[in-house]
Order: sequence, then C-alpha cells, then structure tokens
Amino acid sequence: MENSFTRAPFLEILILHQFLKKYSYRDILLPLINDLKLLYTEGLQVSVNGHNVSLKCALATISADNLSAHSLAGFTCCFNSGRICRFCMISYKDLRSHVNEDDVIIRSSQVHQYHLQALRESAGISKQTYGVVSECPFTELNYFDVTKTFPPDLMHNLLEGVVPLVITRVIQALHFLHIVSLSQVNAELDAFNIGKNDRANLPQKLPQSVLKQNTLPGSAAQVWCLFRILPFLIGHYIPEGEVHWDIYLKCRDIGDMILSPNILRKIIPFLSLQIGEFLSSFQSVFPKTFTPKLHYLIYYPQLILKFGPLKQLWCMRFEGKHQYFKRLSHNTCNFKNLSYTLAKRHQLRQCWELTSLYSLLQNNYTEGERAVPFRALPLEIQKGVIGRSEAEDIQGDERLGVFSSLMINNVKYCVGDNLIVDVDEDIPIFIKILKILQFRGAWLIFGKLRIPKTFERHYHAFKLEDQKEWILVQPGEEKEFHPLDTYVHDDTKYITLYHSVHSSG
Ligand SMILES: [Zn+2]
Repeated sequence: MENSFTRAPFLEILILHQFLKKYSYRDILLPLINDLKLLYTEGLQVSVNGHNVSLKCALATISADNLSAHSLAGFTCCFNSGRICRFCMISYKDLRSHVNEDDVIIRSSQVHQYHLQALRESAGISKQTYGVVSECPFTELNYFDVTKTFPPDLMHNLLEGVVPLVITRVIQALHFLHIVSLSQVNAELDAFNIGKNDRANLPQKLPQSVLKQNTLPGSAAQVWCLFRILPFLIGHYIPEGEVHWDIYLKCRDIGDMILSPNILRKIIPFLSLQIGEFLSSFQSVFPKTFTPKLHYLIYYPQLILKFGPLKQLWCMRFEGKHQYFKRLSHNTCNFKNLSYTLAKRHQLRQCWELTSLYSLLQNNYTEGERAVPFRALPLEIQKGVIGRSEAEDIQGDERLGVFSSLMINNVKYCVGDNLIVDVDEDIPIFIKILKILQFRGAWLIFGKLRIPKTFERHYHAFKLEDQKEWILVQPGEEKEFHPLDTYVHDDTKYITLYHSVHSSG
C-alpha cells in the first residue's frame, strides 16, 4: 500500500549476515561512525544562493526490528524470558502487570553505563542480570544515548506484532464461541467486494493455523488492510459490545492515532490513557498472552513527543528497498560476491536517478482522456468553471479535457475515490470524485460532498450521508493524500480511515 519511493533511501553499507559472526558490528560500522563524527564536528559545506553554509548532522534514531535493534544496541536478544526491554528493567514474567510507563523503571544513559561497567568488571554479573550484553558501537558518538535512539518500528512492532496478535486472538475467541467460524471469515473474504484502492493489499486467506498461532499470512500492508476491513467482513455476526470485539476496537482506536503522520501534542496524554486501557483490557480478556511488542506500546506516547509521529521512522520504506535487492540478487544470478554486485548495481542506478533535478517527483500522468465541449458538462460543473477568473471568455464549444484519473505531485486522483477535503472538530469531510477536468492548464477536481452522519464504533467507520452539493478542489488542497474506498453494508455507505485526522491547531 505504501507508494513511498524506494529510491529515496541511500545505501551506506551492505554486508552478508554471515560476516556478523566473524566480525563485530563495530568492525563493520566503523567507516560510518567515522563519517558521522565528521558530519557532527565539521559538517558539510554547501552553497545556498551563493552563500557558503555549514550543515552539521547527527544520528537521530535507528529504525530496525526488535531483534536487530537489541543486537546492535547491545541488549539481550531473548524475548521470552528475563529482561526483554531496551527501554526499562522489566522482566518477562512481570509484563502483564505493568501497563503504564509509570509502573516501570526506565533505563537511562547513566544507569546503562553502570550496567556496562559492572558487566566488564564484576564476575558475578551476567548478561541476564541487566539484559545488557555489550556496548553499542554508536556510543562512540558523544551525543548518542542507546536507551533512547531505538524507537519501536511501527511496521514490525505494530503491523507485524500487535495487530496480528489482536486479530488472531479475537478470531480464535469468536470461532470457539461459535459467533463466527474461521471458514465463515474466509468465505466472507472470498465474497468481499474490496475497494479499488485496498485491492492492491488484498488480505490473504486465513489458514487453520490462525486458530492456534498469533501470526497472519501476508505482508505488513496486507495485515493492515485486513485490520481495516475486518468489521465489514464479520462485524454483522458479532453482537454489539462483545468483549473480544471490544479489544479489536480499542486496538483500532490506538492504531489510528499511532499511525497518523500528524499527531497533535495535546492528544499524547489521551493516547497514553488509551494504550493503558487497551493493555489492561487485553490482559484481562486474554490472560495467557502478553508479548513484549504489547509492552513496547507503553513507550509510544513519549517517543512520539521526542521524535514526532513514529510513522515517519518506520521500516516500510526500507523493506521496499530490501525487496529491490532481493529481486536484483535473483535476477543477476551472480553470487560470487553478492554484496559487491548489489551495491555496484544500486549505486549506478542511483547515479542515473539523481541526474534528474526532480528525482523525488514522479512523472505526472493521466488516464481515460476525452475532450468534452463546455456546454456538455453538467450545469454545476459549468458554474464551477465559470467561477474561475481565467474563464471569463469561455464559449460553449470550447473543449475541456476530461479524465478518469490524474497522477500529479505523487498523488493519484481517480473518479469514484473519496478524498478528505476538510476536517471539522476532528471529523473528516469527504468528497466523492466525479469529474477530473483540465481547463486551460489548470486541474479541477469536482466531487459531491459526503458528510459523516455518525462514527459507527462497531464498524470503526464513518457512516456517510451523501449531499447534493458539488465541491471543486484543486490538486494539493486535500487534507490527506490517501484515496479512500467506500464500503456498503445493509444499504449504508461507510468509509474507514487509515489513521485519525485532526483539525489544524
Ligand atoms: Zn519496558
């Protein structure tokens, strides 16, 4: 689902995992660490409008799955016993009873130094004592704090951890309570008329193992799609207020906030409360299951305050790059020195891409073009066009380009899609796109207003009321660039968001 460009991340170091057994992280990362030291002390000299400017750079955060984060940061890589957390001193056995950040002893830079020293000097201190195994090689950067630089990655932690856990646990409970069986879930998925935008991440059929395990098949994007459309598949089987379904809905509430690319500072205390409530409910409804990935949720609010929305730091984009390397290694069929082959091919490609000044912009394009005389357009659209200053002299036989879709500035607009054009008291106001026109070089998107009648909690979706009013927007005026699909259930139209949206301010 993520259309982020895989060409944006640069390649710094590429090694085969087997070398990590022979060499240390420090050996491998030393060239990068030395570069980072120089970037921090001397910086880069660049010319901006004829003035020489010194840009200094520092390492802000490191995005990785939990295993890699612990391995690189020097914490224990065991997640089912002992001290499993890189943020606090909690033990695995106590996870269940500590669902707020205030309930745990947070690791600090000073205490971490003490742990490392004790590990080096005291014979009685083992790697299990503090959950600290070694010093992180980035500690050589004098500003680096290992206890705060490895925020949980939303892709691995939420979409491949918490979300599959919640979905599988809820489906298991509903199956064994005979509310909705796994085969009914799959039958609904088979018959489901998935929206055009969500179709790219159509969830996979759920295997029998879902009744025993906490994992889901498919990519993180497919799991996210299932998470969003699940109420439309099975919501009608489930009684309102069903206790297991309530866990799913609570998880949607916090998922919406956490996955937002814009998070208001004022909602952070509310997010903390919601996370605490979700974790308390989860452990009372599913007392036998509590994973470290659930525990890491308690740090999200503080980490968002520190780093901004964590979605900006997630691994989704890097995983896309990883897929590129996997495809390339398959295609080149040259395994003599794989790292060299992949790095060289990548660098050549990036050189070519960077020769364009606008390498971050995708080419604009259109689909389904027709030329339509002005007078043949619906009256409301004619009024909208006439309202523009450049349309004073328009004649009835002037032809305008009418398109079924438009890709411009990396955003795709399609007839039939829903766009958020305003947010009022945190409620999104949608339009359904009905016409895309090009008039004397300007792009005009016409749609009919869709105002949410209510937020239906059981479906975690906005119930829509179509308005007769036409709205004209221009590309870039939308409040959120994800096009949204409409879902119809019991003759009622719904839209489910990717994340919460806020009125500005
Ligand atoms: Zn912790």
